[in-house]
Amino acid sequence: MNHDKSDSENNKSDLTITPEGSWERRQGAAKMTDECQIKLKQVVGYLTENLDTSQTQFMENHIEAGCGPCEARIESLLDLAATEVPIPVKNEMVAQPLFDTQLQPQPVGVRGGATLTRRRLYEAENKVCVDIEHQHSDDGIQLEGQILIRGGNLDEVSHTVVTLFREGLLVATSEVDFVGDFQVPGIQPGMYDLEITNADMNVTLQGFDIE
Ligand SMILES: [Zn+2]
Repeated sequence: MNHDKSDSENNKSDLTITPEGSWERRQGAAKMTDECQIKLKQVVGYLTENLDTSQTQFMENHIEAGCGPCEARIESLLDLAATEVPIPVKNEMVAQPLFDTQLQPQPVGVRGGATLTRRRLYEAENKVCVDIEHQHSDDGIQLEGQILIRGGNLDEVSHTVVTLFREGLLVATSEVDFVGDFQVPGIQPGMYDLEITNADMNVTLQGFDIE
């Protein structure tokens, strides 16, 4: 009887699998294991809305039909977009003149007239102080300065870069030393702009003359 029952079950099983049913099962298995022929570029194009109308329609139909590989790719692409590290916003500042030895009366006898060095101080938002002097020598004029960052540590100061422009053209770029000092030798008389940049800030100091 056991033998009969087994035969009967086998027969029953054979009978219930219709051609349509077996086709559906094979299609289901194919969806789980087969590689999708659509290129990743096409999936990215679909997500970023860079496909034409017919390609977009094709992708919509393809995803609605339930493509496992495409679903996985879309999920990971959306995760990637959501975790993208935002670019830190730099503090943009404009330095204003605070003090100029040429404009302020000097105490008599502090500096001899012949060796008087013009010294200018600029400040940006009570945070950054820029001290500028220049010296004449046989090689031309040397610009000397110091950057002070209030509340900033020495590491922040030492990674600050100074860029000098003359009438809009880049003249020199110099990294300040560990106390914030910088020198730019061999410059010509003219109107200059200075840009002071590090990871946190961008300070512009506009329109100072070197005579
Ligand atoms: Zn696919």
